[in-house]
Amino acid sequence: MFSESIELKTPAQLASLREAGPVVARTLEALRPKVSAGVTTAELDEFCRERLAAEGATTNFLNYHGFPATICISVNDEIVHGIPGSREIATGDLVSLDFGAIVDGWHGDSAITVEVGQASAEVAELNRVTEEALWRGIAAAKIGGKVGDISHAIGSYVKSQAKLSGGRYGITEGFTGHGIGSALHQSPDVPNTGRRGKGAKIVPGMALAIEPMITLGTSRAAILEDEWTAVTTDGTWAAHHEHTITVTETGVWVLTAIDGGARPPAARESRC
Ligand code: MG
Ligand code: MG
Repeated sequence: MFSESIELKTPAQLASLREAGPVVARTLEALRPKVSAGVTTAELDEFCRERLAAEGATTNFLNYHGFPATICISVNDEIVHGIPGSREIATGDLVSLDFGAIVDGWHGDSAITVEVGQASAEVAELNRVTEEALWRGIAAAKIGGKVGDISHAIGSYVKSQAKLSGGRYGITEGFTGHGIGSALHQSPDVPNTGRRGKGAKIVPGMALAIEPMITLGTSRAAILEDEWTAVTTDGTWAAHHEHTITVTETGVWVLTAIDGGARPPAARESRC
C-alpha cells in the first residue's frame, strides 16, 4: 500500500513522538468509562474533540481523506473506521475506539476495544485474544529483526488461540498496521499475519503502529455505503487493539501507553 521509503526519526524527533503518544493514551483512558449504555457515538466524538483542544493537540483523523470525525467508533460487527453519529451504545455492545493526535507535527495512533456491561464469554475472549496478539506483536519487534517477525507473532498467536478454543478467529484482510511519524500512515505496512524474517528490517528511528483486527468468523471485510465503515461479511463481531511503538537498542517504547513507554512491556504485570 505504501511505496515511499521508511522515515527514520532522529532522537529529538522520537522525543516529539513521545509527546503525541500519551495524549492519545490519556484521551482513550478518559473515554473508556464514558462508553456506556445510552451514550451516542457522536457524544464520544465530541468528548475527544474537547480533550484534544485541552491537551493543545490537533486531530489527525478529522478530514483525513474526508473522514468526518476525530475518532473511529466501530460497534459489534463493525471492524474499523466506524463514523460517530446518532447510534446509541447498548449494554452488551463491543465497541472499538481508534483515535489519534498530532503534537508539534508528530502523530500518535492507538485503539482499544471496550465491552459494555457483561459480554458473552466468547466476545470477552475475542477481545482478550486481540489485545494479547497486539502485545505479542510488540514483543517481537527488535532491532535487526524484520517486520514479518511482528506479523508472524500476531498471526500465529491468533491461530493458536482459535485451535485452543475449537473456534475460529478471522484475521481481517485488507487492513494492516503501518509506519507512523510526520504523517499518520507511512511505509512500511505491518500485516497481522506473515512470515518470520520477511519484510522491512527493523532499525533505530523506525516508528510503527501495530494493530490486529480480529473477528469471531470471517477474515473478509465489506465497506458500508458511508464509504468508511468496514464490517465483517458474515456479521460476526470484531475487536481491534493498537499501539504506536518505536524500537531502541535497549528495547521497545510503547509510545501510546499511558506512561509514554517509560516501562518496557516486560514490566507490565498483566502481560508477563
Ligand atoms: Mg488507529
Ligand atoms: Mg493505525
